[in-house]
Amino acid sequence: MLRYDPLTPEQRSERMSRVRAADTKPEMLVRRMAHALGFRYRLHVKTLPGCPDLVFSSRRKVIFVHGCFWHQHGCGRYRMPRTRKRFWNKKLKTNVQRDAENYNQLAGAGWEVLVVWECEVADPVRLVGTLTSFLRCV
Ligand SMILES: [Zn+2]
Repeated sequence: MLRYDPLTPEQRSERMSRVRAADTKPEMLVRRMAHALGFRYRLHVKTLPGCPDLVFSSRRKVIFVHGCFWHQHGCGRYRMPRTRKRFWNKKLKTNVQRDAENYNQLAGAGWEVLVVWECEVADPVRLVGTLTSFLRCV
C-alpha cells in the first residue's frame, strides 16, 4: 500500500524525537516505577479533587506529578517569565491555591497525597525509595 506522507524526513524525525521525549516525561517515569514495584493504579481520576495522576484506590492514596514551574516548587529550578509578570504571578498563585484546596479536600475524604516534583526525577534511586515508603506504609 502506498501512503502519502505529508512530512519530510526531517519533520518526521523531529516528531519521533518528541514522542520519545513524551515517554520519558516525569509522569511516565513515576507510572513505570509504581508498576515495576507491583502497585496497580488508575490514571487521572476526574471524580477526585484535582484529577490525581495516579490513584491507588484500595490503599486510598493518590500521587500528583507536578511540574516545578506550573506548581511553583520551592526548588527554584525554573525561570520565571520576564514578560507579563503580573499575568504569570496571578496564574501561578491560582495554581498553588487550587493545589492546596485539592489536597485538603482529598485529605478530608481520607486520601493520602504524595506530590512528586519534576526535579525529583533526576534522582531515580531516591524516587523509588519515596514511592515505596509512601505506597507500602499503611
Ligand atoms: Zn522542583
